[in-house]
Amino acid sequence: MAMIIDGKQIASEIREEIKSEAAALKERYGAVPGLAVVLVGDDPASAVYVRNKGRACEEVGFASFQHTLPAGTPMRELVSLVDELNARSDVDGILVQLPLPGHMDESAIIDRIDPGKDVDAFHPANVGKILIGDEKGFLPCTPQGCKVLINRAVPDLKGRHLVVVGRSNIVGKPMAAMMLQKKKDADCVVTVCHTAAPDISYYTRQADILVVAAGRPNTITGPMVKEGVVVIDVGMNRIAHPDDPSKTKLVGDVKFDEVEKLASAITPVPGGVGPMTIAMLLSNTLKAFRMHREGS
Ligand code: NAP
Repeated sequence: MAMIIDGKQIASEIREEIKSEAAALKERYGAVPGLAVVLVGDDPASAVYVRNKGRACEEVGFASFQHTLPAGTPMRELVSLVDELNARSDVDGILVQLPLPGHMDESAIIDRIDPGKDVDAFHPANVGKILIGDEKGFLPCTPQGCKVLINRAVPDLKGRHLVVVGRSNIVGKPMAAMMLQKKKDADCVVTVCHTAAPDISYYTRQADILVVAAGRPNTITGPMVKEGVVVIDVGMNRIAHPDDPSKTKLVGDVKFDEVEKLASAITPVPGGVGPMTIAMLLSNTLKAFRMHREGS
């Protein structure tokens, strides 16, 4: 039986540490880190994410600024809002909740955010820094959360084979870039697989550490892993509840009951990677505050 990697507990410890650091910074500077979250439109899932981010900020003593714009807002108004937030000294981090309505150019908005406030780490300047291993940039929240969990579960990663399933810009690609850096807390041999692979199990069976971000339930089953693997399941899929079809259930991308029997450690869904994402957003906002006040 695998050790269950308790992301909820680890995230809560990190949030407590951030809370004490925020209190110390308030003493020193008379100011606290501030995160601005921008929501365009009324997508219910996005509204929940935004609310949770605001609440998480308040719990650790950060200032939170929420801007909700109607779905039909012209692009130029969103650009003006981003410019205004870029200029404000009480805003350390800016997050524009994606997806944006169809008439808006997402990449133009991401490019407009000051890279020093880009706590989502989607700006090309930060993406480039991830690739070259420049720690002055930000790391995207979800893969950063996965990395923290991996570092705790596997203290010595040097030469271990880490296989990532999925190549999205927000999870798979940055995860791979972070773990192949020649650094003490990375230094893995990295393979990335995706739907063009004729048989991903050829790769996943070789993994010492397997990060799965495919967005499909049961992408990884028992026969697709080797004994002793450490599994990080990023997937968040809502499916009909097996016992009550009128309800839904949140599941990952990994067939948990099969893989748990073979793995040495595994994240559950819910309670694994999910809670780490918001903890890393807070951590990035704290880092932004320090960069703005202390230049480091
Ligand atoms: P995405 O943009 O849809 O990308 C999925 C990737 O997985 C693609 O590269 C796709 O390959 C690959 N893929 C899909 N099915 C596959 C299969 N059967 N075999 C091999 N590769 C496969 O998704 P994402 O944004 O990276 O998110 C992935 C999952 O993580 C989703 O369930 C999402 O909800 C979840 N997520 C969770 C958090 C969190 O906080 N816990 C945060 C972000 C995302 P192609 O490129 O070839 O199409």
